[in-house]
Amino acid sequence: MNRSHLVLSRRDLLKLGTVTVGAAALGKAAAAFAEGTASITLPPLPYAEGALAPVISANTIGFHYGKHHKGYVDNLNKLIAGTDLEKAPLEQIMKTTAGVADKQGIFNNAAQTWNHTFYWNSMKPNGGGKPSSDLAQKIDSTFTNFDNFKKELVTAATGQFGSGWAWLVSEGGALKVVKTPNAENPLTKGQTPLLTIDVWEHAYYLDYQNKRADYVNAVIDKLLNWDFATANFKKAA
Ligand code: MN
Repeated sequence: MNRSHLVLSRRDLLKLGTVTVGAAALGKAAAAFAEGTASITLPPLPYAEGALAPVISANTIGFHYGKHHKGYVDNLNKLIAGTDLEKAPLEQIMKTTAGVADKQGIFNNAAQTWNHTFYWNSMKPNGGGKPSSDLAQKIDSTFTNFDNFKKELVTAATGQFGSGWAWLVSEGGALKVVKTPNAENPLTKGQTPLLTIDVWEHAYYLDYQNKRADYVNAVIDKLLNWDFATANFKKAA
């Protein structure tokens, strides 16, 4: 194994250890990684649990990240233990189980693991506003202007019946706003996600109760991480 890669990875594991698994489990995790048998791990939040308040409270993030997201990771690891997917990367697990009837549990937990990590990164403290650079021009040429783009995103997020996700994606060089139910992810449909908003009730109910539109508008206006979307847009191009 490349030495610098190993050092960086151990640093990542140390960071992860302080947030989620504690020092006791770290030795085992680091050893498993070095042997190439690492399981799927819960990545650290990119900010403190209270950093998105008052738009999303520390209480919501605490449950959402610490219970829901962690639960998907733990369930996935249980489901793939001892199978040929045990050592597979997360995206490969999603792509090989999508639409396979007897693998639905694995797909749901793998996709929810991926979706939540992507969602945390789709937001940042003092985010929102408008993107700069090429992505802003692409949004204007696709949706006429930013306000129309925002309307489409709000419509997708509030129009998703029941649990799911609203996304800005790139497909064949074109931008689209799409919604997916439950755990489903645009990656399995040949689309590249640029941003997402979680519209499962657990994402907003403690702070907004039934007012999903208020949550969605506040996330768009105050939290969306356009640096992250721009980086994903450049990778997709
Ligand atoms: Mn969620």
